[in-house]
Amino acid sequence: MTTALITGITGQDGSYLAEHLLSLGYKVHGLVRGQANPKRPLMEALLPDVEVLEGDLLDQTSLINAMQHCQPDEVYNLAAISFVPLSWNQAELTAETTGLGVLRMLEAIRIVSGVTGSQTSGPGIKFYQASSSEMFGKVRETPQNEGTPFYPRSPYGVAKVYGHYITVNYRESYNLFACSGILFNHESPRRGVDFVTRKLSLGAARIKLGKQSELLMGNLESKRDWGYAPDYVRAMHLMLQQPEAEDYVIGTGEQHSGQEFAELAFKQVGLNCEDYIRQDPRFMRPAEVDHLLGDASKAREELGWAPSLSFEELVQVMVESDLETESKTS
Ligand code: NAP
Repeated sequence: MTTALITGITGQDGSYLAEHLLSLGYKVHGLVRGQANPKRPLMEALLPDVEVLEGDLLDQTSLINAMQHCQPDEVYNLAAISFVPLSWNQAELTAETTGLGVLRMLEAIRIVSGVTGSQTSGPGIKFYQASSSEMFGKVRETPQNEGTPFYPRSPYGVAKVYGHYITVNYRESYNLFACSGILFNHESPRRGVDFVTRKLSLGAARIKLGKQSELLMGNLESKRDWGYAPDYVRAMHLMLQQPEAEDYVIGTGEQHSGQEFAELAFKQVGLNCEDYIRQDPRFMRPAEVDHLLGDASKAREELGWAPSLSFEELVQVMVESDLETESKTS
């Protein structure tokens, strides 16, 4: 039986990836941080077959212990400070977690596998790093592929660039099977409620149900390549099943603005978003990423990967889910 260790198991992608790996017959361990982490009971209820290990990306020894305990075949590093706006307020924590946390994960693999030079025999522990399209930032070309230069525009993006290059470096230095998936935005009903898409789907549902009267948003003009999270975790797994460790861009190849998402979400509940959304400067970013568009040709050709939901279907799934949940609670 293949054994996987997932960091960030309490997050959106961690839960979908765990479900996917369990469905393939994997033994799955999930790393959870902190004392009385409020997300732990929710995660354990959703994923009762996942074995929880305690650990923190800020604590090297805890990562070595976790890896020694579960002896994984595959490690998926999804843990991060992942909310871009937060990364300006907590830039140092973001660098420590989203950047140096990747180094600590790679060091844990290297130490547990006893790798000291470049002559590793066999694939050893395979490693997936959750890189991000935010690394492209102020884009140098459109669409963006694996060869597009990075120009990050937030402390989050900068930390992800470090995580990306240290993954490449450990692959080249120690011959580790280490892949970096450069994923464009992916959303779902499990997306955190602060993120723009979920804020819009939840806001539309709550306004429709009379639980809220307006929605305060930041910039809705930026364009993103938005996909469906369960499709993206399939790509993570596929990357680790290839004969060679390589990096892949994952995106839909379609670009839509936050405004388009808002219009569709409110239309679905029979409302006009212009009547309810107000722009609030508090939600504007100090440096904006105007547009991102992924070219996932390599993943399509080598992984056989393709998205399953259109943008319109994604909005529909998220609004339906929030309507259903919100109609059951006061
Ligand atoms: P998410 O929902 O925000 O989950 C982040 C996870 O990281 C949570 O489980 C969180 O645990 C954990 N974490 C934070 N700090 C930690 C620490 N010090 N030690 C251990 N765990 C820690 O993020 P997501 O949307 O699932 O994304 C997964 C990964 O993909 C992230 O690295 C993200 O940056 C990257 N990514 C996401 C997207 C996207 O569109 N979703 C696109 C590209 C890349 P707590 O529950 O304890 O806070």
